[in-house]
Amino acid sequence: MNPTWRKRSACTGIDSDVFYPSSEDDADAEEAKAICAVCPVQTMCLEHALSLREREGIWGGTTERERRRILRQRRKTA
Ligand code: SF4
Repeated sequence: MNPTWRKRSACTGIDSDVFYPSSEDDADAEEAKAICAVCPVQTMCLEHALSLREREGIWGGTTERERRRILRQRRKTA
């Protein structure tokens, strides 16, 4: 699947290893998060990852742990 919003992503052409750090350590995610912070499709990317329950990588400026937290909070308020 390759959603059309990806064409506008700030990570196009950047080594994907940046978005798949070797640990869940927040420090390892900083470089990817800095790119996501200026990405014009950050919200769409995050919602995409949440909807697919993406388990790995940085999506929409969030780590896996942060996405789990968002999903928990949404379940509580639903
Ligand atoms: S939010 Fe981050 S991971 Fe998502 S498309 Fe933008 S730069 Fe790439």
